[in-house]
Amino acid sequence: MFEIKENFSLKNYNTFGIDAKCRFFVECSSLDEITQFLENHNKSDIPLMILGGGSNVLFTQDFEGYVLRPFIKGIEIIEESEEDILVKVGAGEDWDVFVEYCVEKGWGGVENLSLIPGNVGTCPIQNIGAYGVEVKDVIEEVESLEIENLKKNTFKNAECAFGYRDSIFKRNLKGKQIITYVSFRLKKQPVFMLNYGSLTEELNKFNELSLKNIRKAVIDIRESKLPDPKEIGNSGSFFKNPVIEESYAKGLKQEYEDIPLYKQDNGTVKVPAGWLIEKAGWKGKRIGDAGVHEKQALVLVNYGNATGKEIFNLAQEIQQSVKTKFNINIEMEVNVV
Ligand SMILES: Cc1cc2nc3c(=O)[nH]c(=O)nc-3n(C[C@H](O)[C@H](O)[C@H](O)COP(=O)(O)OP(=O)(O)OC[C@H]3O[C@@H](n4cnc5c(N)ncnc54)[C@H](O)[C@@H]3O)c2cc1C
Repeated sequence: MFEIKENFSLKNYNTFGIDAKCRFFVECSSLDEITQFLENHNKSDIPLMILGGGSNVLFTQDFEGYVLRPFIKGIEIIEESEEDILVKVGAGEDWDVFVEYCVEKGWGGVENLSLIPGNVGTCPIQNIGAYGVEVKDVIEEVESLEIENLKKNTFKNAECAFGYRDSIFKRNLKGKQIITYVSFRLKKQPVFMLNYGSLTEELNKFNELSLKNIRKAVIDIRESKLPDPKEIGNSGSFFKNPVIEESYAKGLKQEYEDIPLYKQDNGTVKVPAGWLIEKAGWKGKRIGDAGVHEKQALVLVNYGNATGKEIFNLAQEIQQSVKTKFNINIEMEVNVV
């Protein structure tokens, strides 16, 4: 049975380490518990927020309602053939523990997504991605519970409307569904995804191409580039990489020869937000305890006692200055509460 805690500090439940409080906090370890909790909760008008690993949220104030953590565990094999395996995973499993498990078992598909913080239940929401792979490539379906009417839903991959750091759960269904299980189809004869420059380079250090070595290479790169939230509070990339028209990109290239531009299939061009922020002079800047990481301008950090508001204000200043310099809007990737 779940326990409801009152006036609860979320400092250890968000990777920014923001000391925000919620009025009530509850962890449910099964679908039954979540249902039971919602049956009661839905009779009230107290706001509700779902929290996973807290690695993609910025609390700018206390939350005057319930924070619910779905803590459903378990990895179940649903189907298996010589080529692939279908596994259903509880939303409360830690993402990277699941990746490690798959790599150990020799199931390919998620190894490039090693060391991304957060829970399995959250991975479809922003379609997590890294090193040339997005989780949509292996998701078969997503199961959820509709908060309003306790209806169980299943969304097939095509129904999730996956895009770059985007899905239906971030849009029409935001705040309406609790993701309870995610099913993944993984390859038993892995196809290695090596179309990402720095990963191929790192892999040269290993004498064999394997899932284990890819995971190791990804972890090595990530640890050398990204601050560890246990040491400096952060939520990874704070902004999404903007996508611009090709004609505008051409003009930028004339002005800034070194601007990295990535052509998309639909003729648009993706620009690294980190490059724009760095060129706008923000890399390594610090205002009080809120700052822009010295090695990676895309990452905003909490050097100790920054409030969520201070980090949010810094983010807005950065957006404004990128807009002024390049006439490009950069959107926040992090969920601001
Ligand atoms: C150091 C660092 C590196 C990162 N690197 C990457 C990266 O390479 N690629 C990438 O894509 N992301 C990256 N991220 C971002 C983050 O890890 C992912 O977005 C992750 O999926 C968030 O999971 P979480 O469980 O922590 O989500 P939370 O922060 O807990 O929640 C995020 C949002 O999802 C909602 N939510 C959570 N669980 C559920 C649920 N079960 N049902 C419905 N809604 C829910 C919350 O209400 C919130 O709006 C990084 C973050 C950090 C700190």
